[in-house]
Amino acid sequence: MEKAQLINLAYIVASVLFIFGIKMLGSADTARRGNQVSALGMLLAVVATLLAGGFDWTWIIAGLVLGGAIGAIWAKKVQMTGMPELVALFNGFGGIASLLVGWAEEAHYEGGEAMPAVTSVAIGLAVLIGGITFTGSLIAYLKLSGKMGGSPTLFPGQKAINALILAAMLVFAGMFVATGQPWTLYAIIGLSLLLGVLGVLPIGGGDMPVVIAFLNSCSGLAASAAGFVINNNVLIVAGCLVGASGLILTVIMCKAMNRTLGNVFFGGFGAASGKSGAAVEGEMKALSTEDAFYVLEAAQSVVFVPGYGMAVAQAQHAVKELAEILENNGAEVRFAIHPVAGRMPGHMNVLLAEADVPYEQLCEMDDVNPTMETVDVAIVIGANDVVNPAAAEDESSPIYGMPIINVHHARNVFALKRGQGAGFSGLVNTLFFRDNCRMIYGDAKETITSLVSQFKD
Ligand code: NDP
Repeated sequence: MEKAQLINLAYIVASVLFIFGIKMLGSADTARRGNQVSALGMLLAVVATLLAGGFDWTWIIAGLVLGGAIGAIWAKKVQMTGMPELVALFNGFGGIASLLVGWAEEAHYEGGEAMPAVTSVAIGLAVLIGGITFTGSLIAYLKLSGKMGGSPTLFPGQKAINALILAAMLVFAGMFVATGQPWTLYAIIGLSLLLGVLGVLPIGGGDMPVVIAFLNSCSGLAASAAGFVINNNVLIVAGCLVGASGLILTVIMCKAMNRTLGNVFFGGFGAASGKSGAAVEGEMKALSTEDAFYVLEAAQSVVFVPGYGMAVAQAQHAVKELAEILENNGAEVRFAIHPVAGRMPGHMNVLLAEADVPYEQLCEMDDVNPTMETVDVAIVIGANDVVNPAAAEDESSPIYGMPIINVHHARNVFALKRGQGAGFSGLVNTLFFRDNCRMIYGDAKETITSLVSQFKD
């Protein structure tokens, strides 16, 4: 068998491993193995590409050492709470890598032979999508890490300006394919980087999950286009897999936010962002852990609703312990997981799986909501936006229409949070003012640990 055939065979095996790996990620039991299978596929793809040769080893080794060192140090240092913004940054790096591949390939042709049409289309797409993904992801990173406020940044004529930039970019892309002039590519690079910034800036906190999933999909599409640029089959396949799975995730997130894809693509983002919701009357009523203990001791049915605050407090192990104690005390215990709780898709599932919470106890929003009236206590652990009744009741609220976990229908609600802080969307939560809701202030892990120790005493 010739070397080229061998390499293509390795690429096919790597692609199959990617597909099986992704399939295995679909279930908590096989997810870890799925990750390893995909990583094996990637190793095979990298080795096969290196075997193909035709490059300067100095650059490859320099890239491996430098990138490997930065990645290893970063992975060691990152806190669990920092994962979502790191993932956003990785999407961005994928985008800029594809942009640079496209740009470098264009440079090969400058002053030389004419560029084939397929290559110029692929370069245009890699640069255009890669540029938007890069700067869009940087803004997402800043928003998720709290370095930039979660609320939308708006200015007059924003949508028209974005539409104009998009149109100009497509015109330059057409010119690049037709003429191959380098300056048209530079124009696409500049405009795509600008559109990434201006496109994500007006998106409010509540809509960020859709954006993250969409940028993830874009990074895959850009990689796939880069695969066409350099004629690398495995990059085309891997890019398509990321693009397609990212798109499926985008649709899931749209559903979770009660938005349609068309609504997202054609100006739905941040559309309601000028609103701030109706004023809230009443006061929040605090409860001590001692009093909460007596209610929980008598409870027959308890639902935990985890949110971003559980990730911040790293309370998942303490929560698992309390859940076990309540079960042994005769209560039915469930965990209600909202699809956009936390800061990345599946955030809560990952944390609860880490704490070995039985999979059967995890309930989806649609399954738990119809039973909420029969729940004695709903324990909200650092969740806010995903349990805000304004989403169901207040038409003037920016999150109106977003499905929530209806804890306000439970007999009692214990809201565990440190203070009066708002959720990621920056909105006041009307739940905390309800008669059936009591605030248990403090770090969620400390509160849960205190409840656990009272059961043990
Ligand atoms: P929120 O961000 O709405 O609220 C988190 C709450 O946790 C805050 O109100 C905060 O209140 C509390 N908190 C923080 N630290 C602690 C702590 N140590 N102990 C106890 N409480 C704490 O979280 P949700 O999960 O309800 O909602 C997720 C939000 O993030 C949604 O708006 C979603 O759209 C958005 N988002 C989700 C993404 C995803 O993919 N899942 C991606 C991007 C955005 P206090 O400060 O008073 O303690």
